[in-house]
Amino acid sequence: MSNTVIQVSSDLIHSMKKHYADSLLEKIPPGAVFAAKHNSCSITAYRSGKVMFQGKMHAEEAMKWGKPSDPPAKRKTSGSPLPPNISRMSLIGSDEVGTGDYFGPITVVSAYVKKEQIPLLKELGVKDSKDLSDIQIIKIAKDLLHVIPYSLLLLRNEKYNKLQASGMTQGKMKALLHNQALNNLLKKITPETPEAILIDQFVEADTYYRHLKGQAEIVKENVFFSTKGESVHIAVAAASILARYAFVKSFDDLSNEAEFTLPKGAGHQVDQAAAKLIKQKGEAALYKYAKVHFANTEKAKKLI
Ligand code: MN
Repeated sequence: MSNTVIQVSSDLIHSMKKHYADSLLEKIPPGAVFAAKHNSCSITAYRSGKVMFQGKMHAEEAMKWGKPSDPPAKRKTSGSPLPPNISRMSLIGSDEVGTGDYFGPITVVSAYVKKEQIPLLKELGVKDSKDLSDIQIIKIAKDLLHVIPYSLLLLRNEKYNKLQASGMTQGKMKALLHNQALNNLLKKITPETPEAILIDQFVEADTYYRHLKGQAEIVKENVFFSTKGESVHIAVAAASILARYAFVKSFDDLSNEAEFTLPKGAGHQVDQAAAKLIKQKGEAALYKYAKVHFANTEKAKKLI
C-alpha cells in the first residue's frame, strides 16, 4: 500500500491545515480543501472529509490524525454472474426503501435507463441515495420522474401488518413487490425490452424465487442480483432515489396525520414517538403508522 486514507471531521481538516501551514501547496486538486508536502509525504484533504497521505511514511503521518478507514465492503452477487459490460447496458434497476423503518411504508421502484441516458442521469446528480440528503433526493427525483419510465409500489402499513400477521415474512413481501414492479414496468416499455434487469440484492437468488413460487408471472429472464447495485448500474441508483422520494413523501403525510414529526429508523426516539401515538390515538392506531411487529411496539408500551 503506497497510501493511507482516513476520514475526519471538517474541524479536524481545519486543524490539519493549520498544522501544515508551512508546507501547503499552491495547486490543489478539484474537491480538495488543501494539499501539503511534509517530509516527502503528500497530504491531500478533501471536502468529503477524506484525507490521503502518499509517499514516504504515509502511514505514520496519517496515524497522527486518525485510523485508516475500512476498505469499502465488497459487492456480492447471487445467481448468474454479472455480465462484464452490465454498467453500460440499457437496464432496469430495482430497489426498495423503508424496510428498516418502524414508521412508514415500504416503497419499491423499478426504473428503466437506456444506455444513451446514462450521461444525462449523471448530469442530474443520480448516485447512491445513501450519499444524498432527503432535500437533494427530492430535487433529483422530480427531474427523474419525467426522464425515465418506472413503476412505483407502495406497501402501506395497514396492508403490511395484515400480511405480516398472516405469517408472511418481510423478505417475501419484498420479493412479491419487486416482481410486481418489474412486470408493470416491462409492460409499460413494451415492445422495448431491457438488456438486463438488476435487483439490488436483499436475499440470495434462490430464496427470491422460492418466495415467488406460485405467482402467475415471474420475471426471470436476464435478471441479476447484486448488493450495492447502485454501484453496478445507475438504474439501481435511480430506482433507489425514486423509492426514497416516495417514502419521504408518504412519511411526511403520516407525520401530518399524527400531528407531530415521526422519526425515521427504529431507535429509541421511535419508541418515544410510538408511545406518544398510543397515548393520543390508542394502540390500534399504530397499525396505520407503523410496522407493528418491530420490537419498538413493546418498548413503547413499556414507556407508557
Ligand atoms: Mn437496496
